[in-house]
Amino acid sequence: MESVLPPAFVERMHALLGAEADAFFAALERSPALGLRVNPLKLRPERFERITPWALEPVPWALFGFRVAESARPGKHPYHAAGLYYLQEPSAMAVVEALDVRPGLQVLDLAAAPGGKATQIAGYLNGEGLLVANEVESSRIKPLGENLERWGARNAVITNETPERLADHFGACFDRVLLDAPCSGEGMFRKNPGARDEWSVEHVAGCAARQSRILDQAARLVAPDGLLVYSTCTFAPEENEQRIATFLAEHPQWSLIEIPKRHGFAAARPEWAGDLATPELTRAVRLWPHRVAGEGHFIALLHNGVRSERSERSLLPSAGFDRDESRHQKRGGRRGDRVVDPGAAARTAWQTFERESLTTSFPTERLSVHNDQVYLMPALLPDLSGLRVVRSGLWLGTAKPGRFEPSHALALALLPDEARHTISLTLDEAERYLRGETFANNGPDGWVLIGVDGWPLGWGRRVGGVVKNFYPKGLRWM
Ligand code: SAM
Repeated sequence: MESVLPPAFVERMHALLGAEADAFFAALERSPALGLRVNPLKLRPERFERITPWALEPVPWALFGFRVAESARPGKHPYHAAGLYYLQEPSAMAVVEALDVRPGLQVLDLAAAPGGKATQIAGYLNGEGLLVANEVESSRIKPLGENLERWGARNAVITNETPERLADHFGACFDRVLLDAPCSGEGMFRKNPGARDEWSVEHVAGCAARQSRILDQAARLVAPDGLLVYSTCTFAPEENEQRIATFLAEHPQWSLIEIPKRHGFAAARPEWAGDLATPELTRAVRLWPHRVAGEGHFIALLHNGVRSERSERSLLPSAGFDRDESRHQKRGGRRGDRVVDPGAAARTAWQTFERESLTTSFPTERLSVHNDQVYLMPALLPDLSGLRVVRSGLWLGTAKPGRFEPSHALALALLPDEARHTISLTLDEAERYLRGETFANNGPDGWVLIGVDGWPLGWGRRVGGVVKNFYPKGLRWM
């Protein structure tokens, strides 16, 4: 059954947009814009353009973004399983472009699931600095973890916390914070008609109140001179101009930075902000579905002009963190006068695997072991004690009796030439691998990195010319 637009929404948008309303409603009748963002951690967009089976059209405002036809079904292609791109509608790509992420920065994505913008941030960090991807809803953590894993991010921490607890814990220590706020989702009406049924004026008001609470906490996490992006995928002024106007009125040392009005981006509308309207609001942008090839977004870039000190929780190099004697004492035990490292056997198992199976090596001082699971901590790591941490850095694998089992996350974080033993499958063979099939292949026994056209998909273990399939059962294609 076709879902109709809520009458109260239609009435509001007519009142807001006037003569432009007809074009807006006509756009909502068209098919949604589909896009993909190429993963710069794995390949350059020019390379992807050479290997892609689909017609691509560059998204002018996103360095790695392309529009792709709905009929392409890029989510059902082995290149997707290899993390060569992330499916994201084009207007959502503009949010991280505004955040000005550069390698080495410390970035917090406060509402990160399922990970569209977090993966984009990880791409811009290019392995340097730190991404803390937080999601308060436990049920949304799994897809966030899987998406960051497929992306091959090595320097990401995933937390499952409330904004308040993060702000209390970290204080003002992040160079960049993204608040892609939970909203009434009017920009999803085309892509997900079910969103129309959930919409009501009361829902908009409830979202607005929640957004103000989260925005206040987000601001507490931004370092002096740092940047905060607030974004929504809804058109309601209560959730956009009015939130930013209220925030600016209550936080006089913060200001809006201009986001260029190119490519059909429109200025935000001060006249929709009510009593607190300020001309400064035109520095924020609105992406309308009748003006750009995208579903619609609101984006405001805020600068923290507060002169207080950066939080004392500023992030420490993880090597220093790991050498901290008192921590070893807490984690391990003492035998005579010697500190016993309970992770020593797991580290050794990893190092044997690394020597035998990889052509690259990871810094030993950044290894960390929890219950036989070995992790590579990001070079910068905050004190995470007391927080609900889901993933702290790159999971390398598990030490088992007499062997080391590499993780799927490691396979996806490796580049094609970083493993000693590789098998490159054709597209058809890759689909069979993704379904969990075992296959014959001659070569030395041991771990083999399986790829599609060379791009890692997962692990196999070769024994006597047969490769056992280690593609995770939960991810297998049906
Ligand atoms: N940034 C994500 C992406 O690009 O894939 C999308 C984020 S979605 C628009 C908003 C997120 O906010 C949801 O994952 C939702 O669970 C989370 N959320 C809901 N209530 C929240 C709250 N009170 N504080 C923080 N986040 C909340």
